[in-house]
Amino acid sequence: MRHSKALNAICRALEAAGATVWPSGDGHPPPCVWREDADSLWNTACGRTWQFFDEGPGENRVNFCHGCGHPVQSVGYVEPIDDDDEDGRTP
Ligand SMILES: [Zn+2]
Repeated sequence: MRHSKALNAICRALEAAGATVWPSGDGHPPPCVWREDADSLWNTACGRTWQFFDEGPGENRVNFCHGCGHPVQSVGYVEPIDDDDEDGRTP
């Protein structure tokens, strides 16, 4: 599908206003990846930080990033695996 002239004009206007415009026409916009850190803060791919009282973006129905408007892809915090001490399960 090709961009219409009007759509291109709108995109240019939005970009001029500082918005992020993704190329439309082929598939979905790229997700904004939100990564949870050890303090339960969510660091977004567009450089913002968010915190929830309870759970994460999925449980709070945050489907789109407040910072950039892209769909949110959340990556929960995973505790680093200690492979060389105090585990006791290493062979
Ligand atoms: Zn974002």
